[in-house]
Amino acid sequence: MAFGECGRFVRYEAANSSNLPCGTDRAEPAVPYYLPMDYPRLRASMVATQITARGMRDPGVSEAMQRVERHLFVPPDQRPHAYEDRPLPIGDGQTISQPYMVAVMTEALAPAADSLVLEIGTGSGYQSAVLAVLAAHVISIERHATLATRATANLEAAGVTNVEVLVGDGTEGYAPRAPYDRILVTAGAPAVPETLTSQLADGGRLVIPVGPHGLQRVTIIERRGGNVSRKEGESCVFVPLVGRHGWAPDA
Ligand code: SAM
Repeated sequence: MAFGECGRFVRYEAANSSNLPCGTDRAEPAVPYYLPMDYPRLRASMVATQITARGMRDPGVSEAMQRVERHLFVPPDQRPHAYEDRPLPIGDGQTISQPYMVAVMTEALAPAADSLVLEIGTGSGYQSAVLAVLAAHVISIERHATLATRATANLEAAGVTNVEVLVGDGTEGYAPRAPYDRILVTAGAPAVPETLTSQLADGGRLVIPVGPHGLQRVTIIERRGGNVSRKEGESCVFVPLVGRHGWAPDA
């Protein structure tokens, strides 16, 4: 079983009950050995098999996901799984989203090189780092201070310099820096918070999973002058958006 990491090598326990010598009734002391983790190759395979093969063709999104070192955004014991096709635990009962979902949300958001982006739900900071490749600046809000601190460290380790992480209730948006060209919510909301729609720039876009616990739809809101349009995309499952304009903490 993998239990740790040393640089780019993952340490494995060699001893297990299936390789005990005959007549031995307890495990010998564990003999660690090291397997190299070829993260660039795992990342290329993640993009090819989980993103491009599922029909996502936006070259900017693929390039950004090829560039961002996802293993730097997961806890050390999860690093061997960093490029797998699933969400992973990051502490405080929260998850780093499945890579495919990050691609879906980023493609739906379609940030431009000069976009100011507001993200709600920093989590590990991975989605923020992907957005940071594509946009000019990202302000990201996380309600758990421990996750915000860790995400800030992860972003620094990954060399990302255009993301600011704030602690607070993101359902309120962040009025001091509004309006935003793009707003991305990475937690599931019962409805679209009007506070966020009102902080969109003219021509701006908000992407947010909306629906009951356990099943939402990726919802795209666009503001053009006084008109606000709404479109629904893929089904998805996100952890709840908890806050004044989201779910109650115990809902
Ligand atoms: N995008 C993240 C990543 O790449 O690791 C994963 C986000 S995780 C699925 C959702 C995050 O939203 C959690 O970290 C959770 O604490 C946060 N969250 C939930 N409600 C929030 C709120 N009202 N304001 C800010 N963050 C919130």
